[in-house]
Amino acid sequence: ENDARAIRVFFIPFFATGHMIPLVDIARLFAARGVDSTVLVTPANAALIRATVDDAAASGLPLRTLVYPFPSSECDLPPGVENISALPPSDSYKIDVATPFARPEHERLLRLHRPDAVVADTHFPWTTYIARDLGVPRIAFQALGLFPVCVMASVIRKRPHLATSGDNEPFLVPDLPHPVHLVPSELPDFIRGETIITGILEELAEAEKGSLGVVVNSFAEMEEAYAEHYHKVGSIRSWFVGPVALANADAKGLGARGGDDPVAAANRARCLSWLDAKEPKSVLYVCFGSWSHFRGEQLREMALGMEAAGHPFLWVVRDDVDEWMPDGFERRVASRGLVVRGWAPQVAILAHAAVGGFVTHCGWNSVLEGVTAGLPMVTWPLSTEQFINEKLVVGVLRMGVRAAERPGSTAESERPLVGAVELAKAVARVMGGGEEAEAMRRRAREHGKMARAAVTEGGSSYKGLSDLIEEIRKWHAERMSSAAAVIA
Ligand code: UDP
Repeated sequence: ENDARAIRVFFIPFFATGHMIPLVDIARLFAARGVDSTVLVTPANAALIRATVDDAAASGLPLRTLVYPFPSSECDLPPGVENISALPPSDSYKIDVATPFARPEHERLLRLHRPDAVVADTHFPWTTYIARDLGVPRIAFQALGLFPVCVMASVIRKRPHLATSGDNEPFLVPDLPHPVHLVPSELPDFIRGETIITGILEELAEAEKGSLGVVVNSFAEMEEAYAEHYHKVGSIRSWFVGPVALANADAKGLGARGGDDPVAAANRARCLSWLDAKEPKSVLYVCFGSWSHFRGEQLREMALGMEAAGHPFLWVVRDDVDEWMPDGFERRVASRGLVVRGWAPQVAILAHAAVGGFVTHCGWNSVLEGVTAGLPMVTWPLSTEQFINEKLVVGVLRMGVRAAERPGSTAESERPLVGAVELAKAVARVMGGGEEAEAMRRRAREHGKMARAAVTEGGSSYKGLSDLIEEIRKWHAERMSSAAAVIA
């Protein structure tokens, strides 16, 4: 541990909430092992992680933030543009425009502080070359699991969807450890077209190859076959260190994942005391991540579906609700439904004894947090690689049921409406009685146990983190001894 204290590591999270939260958790895990850890963060996002960092610092962990100006004056974008959750959906492309402008600040700070290693999101390929220049390793943080990464890599390589005769015709993703079927409309836009824009993908892949390896928020018992596959296909090493949400589970930080936002703090108190009054495993938790939106018609069906399902529910809504709420809905469900606006303490909710099921959009963090809590899921993917994550939950782990019976689509305009009756049916399949539901809940509990064991001392992810830190320390020791040799 004392040796570890000698090394300093910089962490550079990408701006999106779903990327930032897990990398800050990883930084906290490093700090808990005695590594001097600094998170580089932009002004609008500093607030989101402040409570986690303060909490860690208060318990004596060497974790701090360094705030850098963003967006730079060179790009014509307003302050706060990097806080993707706060942007209206039509503006989310601005994040891509703004991202390259972070490079000069990263470069300046890394050269100024000269850390012993850099753990930077895959979205910042330049960090590989800055680190190489400084003679230190760059570790890429992959915000997804290796299952979706391998699926996407296979589709990019083999283009199997181009041989189908229609957008809703299933195809097999070739060469994977499990048979995975998708339909073309479920693929993320950037890999779906006839010609993919390979420039940026190649740039990211090159930088990943040039890094020491990839650190992943997942655990071997869930994805080992994909780590092997990933290594075989791309010759890239990987370290599983998750589920990292547990890094904050024993601290106040559990609820601090909402920053110092007063609405989030009020929601936390309200949600947890509401859950305290509910029967064990009785509540359905419904949440679609940090930036998803629905059209009003769909929200209405969702409300009616939850009402029809008949279970108590805690529903987090990010959209403006007034126009679509069915007449008298909140009054009718008042005794068993809680509708929460804004940010909810998801990890704490999922860990609460009263929660028995999770309706999720299948963002990677949510999937992993659901698995960790050992909860069966109703999967409702909306965009990006969420349809691929759904295949893991439903097809591989077999601890979930799809909300939609028809093929999905990442394009909102083509996405079929999930009707109230359809939703209520899916909910019954995970929350109700019967053999199927029992078996699903049993598998969910088993995966939850494995997830929690992975991060405890001696577990696979605990060891993954030890291995990674050890490797960074070796680099550091070699650098020191060759510097000493030069001086001598
Ligand atoms: N989250 C939360 N409260 C909310 C919404 C989201 O705590 O009201 C957290 C959630 O626990 C997860 C992250 O935000 O850690 C969302 O990441 P995910 O990959 O699931 O979805 P994304 O937001 O990237 O679509």
